[in-house]
Amino acid sequence: MCRKAFGFSVGAVMKNKVFIIVIIIIFVLGIVGSAVVLLMPPKSRIRVVSDGETVYTADLRTAEDTVFDVEYQGHVNTVEIKDHRIRVKEADCPDQTCVRMGWLSSSAAPIVCLPHKLVIEFTDGADVDAVTR
Ligand SMILES: [Zn+2]
Repeated sequence: MCRKAFGFSVGAVMKNKVFIIVIIIIFVLGIVGSAVVLLMPPKSRIRVVSDGETVYTADLRTAEDTVFDVEYQGHVNTVEIKDHRIRVKEADCPDQTCVRMGWLSSSAAPIVCLPHKLVIEFTDGADVDAVTR
């Protein structure tokens, strides 16, 4: 009886070890998966829309640093791409909201300049293809 009890406890420990290892593997895969998603955001393509028209598209992963002006009815937004990020550097709009929004960081929050009808947003590849076609 004593031996049987011992055998049972060893078996239980073995099962527990396997169980713990499986848990650890799932845990590690989860962390790696999250890290990959965080390090490689699915959206790196951006577009600049002025008055409903796409005037500029780029892939921030490969985009060179640049500064360019987007004009709308005599008003100007100066857009800057630097270190694979994009922002409105300067604008002559009265509210300066677009400048204060800083670097574009989320597809959920595009940079918008309401007075100049300017939008800078992340887009997916299919969207860009449709625009350039
Ligand atoms: Zn603005």
